[in-house]
Amino acid sequence: MMNSEFRNLPSVDQVLAHENIRHLVESHGYPHSLLVSLARESLDSARRAIAGGSLSPALGEIVETVAGQLLTLETPRLRPVINASGVLLHTNLGRAPLSQEATKAMTVVAADYSNLEFDLRSGRRGSRHVHVEDILCQLTGAEAALVVNNNASGVMLGLTALARRKEVVVSRGQAVEIGGSFRIPDVMRQSGAKLVEVGTTNCTYAADYEQAITPRTAALMRVHSSNFRLVGFVSEATLEDIVDVGSRNNVTVLDDLGSGCFLDTTEFGLDSEPMVQQSVVAGVGVTFFSGDKLVGGPQAGIIVGQKQLVDKLKRHPMARAVRIDKIRLAALIATLVHYLKGEATRKIPVWRMIATPMGEIGRRAELWSQTLDGFGEVIDGETMVGGGSLPGGTLPTKLVAIGEQGKRKKGVNISQIISARLRDMPVPIIGRISEDRLLLDPRSVLPEDDATILAALQNVAADLKKGR
Ligand SMILES: *Cc1c(COP(=O)(O)O)cnc(C)c1O
Repeated sequence: MMNSEFRNLPSVDQVLAHENIRHLVESHGYPHSLLVSLARESLDSARRAIAGGSLSPALGEIVETVAGQLLTLETPRLRPVINASGVLLHTNLGRAPLSQEATKAMTVVAADYSNLEFDLRSGRRGSRHVHVEDILCQLTGAEAALVVNNNASGVMLGLTALARRKEVVVSRGQAVEIGGSFRIPDVMRQSGAKLVEVGTTNCTYAADYEQAITPRTAALMRVHSSNFRLVGFVSEATLEDIVDVGSRNNVTVLDDLGSGCFLDTTEFGLDSEPMVQQSVVAGVGVTFFSGDKLVGGPQAGIIVGQKQLVDKLKRHPMARAVRIDKIRLAALIATLVHYLKGEATRKIPVWRMIATPMGEIGRRAELWSQTLDGFGEVIDGETMVGGGSLPGGTLPTKLVAIGEQGKRKKGVNISQIISARLRDMPVPIIGRISEDRLLLDPRSVLPEDDATILAALQNVAADLKKGR
């Protein structure tokens, strides 16, 4: 019986000869080899199903599977979504959205040749770093700057170029994991630097750094514990203390700021996030931070510091392996210019969201809620900055809450059903679920996307009415 099921399976040639498949090749121009490969895979999986006791699929079914897979393959994978989760820098959702100017700068550079490494005045080879270095120096007060692929690679480059086969002193409370398997002890090992942990998990004093210095010490390093917070009996040497120990012993200080920030977060009602300018003023040798956290730009690792040190990083062979591409460089420059012009809170999406007044958030939440026609209500809540910055940092917001705690339909809570429905929209909408309620936060959604949200919520409300 099973043997006959195997025999009933069409051959690859029969699948390819089917008129629908021939149409795909002849009218749409799909390569024959791709269809052969898809036909084989689909027949293989049918064979496995038969071995498991299934019946042989008809030729038409196999053809349909092949056509379906073709469609899946060519459908764009990376799609825009609307982030209503209330986490502004959501690593799973691509961290910072870019300003219009940054987006345009990327498109312009992507579509054409550019003077990326070409000095237009001399007609000779130039450096990609010159385009961004002066802006970073203006913004931070640093002598020199360099931009690489991301902050993880920036820190790795810094340690490799400055501390290989030497010791780097780090507070035990800062030998942390950032997430995504970026752990300070592992990064040190990879770069060939020897981690010397000092102090205790909760307390590290300036004297701890001082006592750990030996002739093999290359640097003292501070790591901003960006994604967690120690509370209670806690004492960390300040950056100024560490720099003071460093300068008295002629040892440089490295600072992994993580997010990095140019604006004072406390002015927006947030906890204090260390600013890049503060590290430079304090006298840090090299400071490392991300382009796509609170800077609000594209993925990048930004490095600023003393010229003689930054030059070592620029010249190191690893710099080539982690260099930034022209498209993100263009977006980063456009983003940094917003800070230069003092327009960051008006132009950079993450800062626009942070700076949105409560009144406006409340009005939008009411509008969203009204569209739900009784199925949603506006409640007080908190927006998280996220992305490994400001661990305890939240902003007040108004949330639209859908669903009721404990209320289930066929064992599934209504918030789960609506959440899945919103993810299935042409532009998926991502909320967050808390205590059986789906929460939508207008603060993490740009007002430009409100029309899309309202249309989706109208849809949801209509469905809910039918289901009543
Ligand atoms: C986020 C973070 C990193 C990694 O930065 P990426 O830009 O994601 O590579 C490194 N160090 C700290 C302290 C961070 O918070």
